[in-house]
Amino acid sequence: MHGLPDGFGERLAALCAVDAQTGDHAGLVRSADLLAGWATDDGLAVEVRATPEGPLVIASTRGAGADRTLLIGHHDVVYPAGTAAARPLAARDGRVLGPGVADMRGGLLVGLAALAGLARDPQGPHGAAELWIVPDEEARSWAPACLDEWRGADRALCLECGRADGAIVTARKACTWLTLEAVGRDAHAGTERDEGRSALMALVREAVRIEDELHGGRPGVQATVTQLNGGSGMNTVPGHATASVDLRADTAADLAWVVAELGRFAAHDDIAVTRSDEPGFPPLDRDAALAEHTLALLAAVDAPAREQTAAGASDGSWSSSIGVPTVDGLGPIGGGDHGPDEWIDPASVAPRIEVVRRLAGGR
Ligand SMILES: [Zn+2]
Repeated sequence: MHGLPDGFGERLAALCAVDAQTGDHAGLVRSADLLAGWATDDGLAVEVRATPEGPLVIASTRGAGADRTLLIGHHDVVYPAGTAAARPLAARDGRVLGPGVADMRGGLLVGLAALAGLARDPQGPHGAAELWIVPDEEARSWAPACLDEWRGADRALCLECGRADGAIVTARKACTWLTLEAVGRDAHAGTERDEGRSALMALVREAVRIEDELHGGRPGVQATVTQLNGGSGMNTVPGHATASVDLRADTAADLAWVVAELGRFAAHDDIAVTRSDEPGFPPLDRDAALAEHTLALLAAVDAPAREQTAAGASDGSWSSSIGVPTVDGLGPIGGGDHGPDEWIDPASVAPRIEVVRRLAGGR
């Protein structure tokens, strides 16, 4: 396909022809079979490990060095069965479009191509380079099951797509999603209105406090009420209500702060308000040395040398949380994730492969 390295477009088309929504075991097995087959063709060592969420694919190679580089990706996508047939890989207006091209099949193939380059140089200065392709990233707000096996690595290169302006992701916000529950008392809204206690109105008052006071309460803190539900009938004072809140912050400390502030509920007459306590995603902390090295390599291949802090989480947040220096957004430049016009820039693929190969220690 125009602008893509040899063979890359064929592999991307084959991968995008598979429906592999999170939890679709048959689709994930087909996707894993393709990836494992290509890794074998490329001269890599391959392990396909069955897990309750679907197959985990680990492709690796080793040079003469002693260091260890992780390449991190996921092969599940968000799209339901039928999407692959409806939207095969296509080129339009200089972009390549298809389900999962940016999030993150294009990135997986960048990782494979980078490892293939290292495998062609078995006496090179690089150490171990391992591409971990998990099956369940899109529907998970907890750590990947293999996280412990990433401990001690020298660096992690996460292959989510580069941003639309070419930026890599050198930091990500911490985030969590909490549920609020209010319990008051149902009562007839006409004849016994004063006997009722509106749980819904209690959460409305809390929602206003959250958006007015907690959102922006510290630099980088975002607090958004995303759902509000309550009531049992049109003529009943709503005695029960729930809300969900999306919280994001630049640091773990700021996330803990906004979670604690969220729980300082106002007194609501005879209405109990509680919140859940999901830990959510840790931040991806910027590693200055790895970030600067990556930007220098991008500049050296005439690619955009920009960085960004992303509001969303990825498995790079987890590798960072165990102390592995992590940089993300090393997949092809792209966007439109999770939508009908998801795209990548084909011209960005070859430079990204080169930069990932070099970051893994390739000469
Ligand atoms: Zn992704």
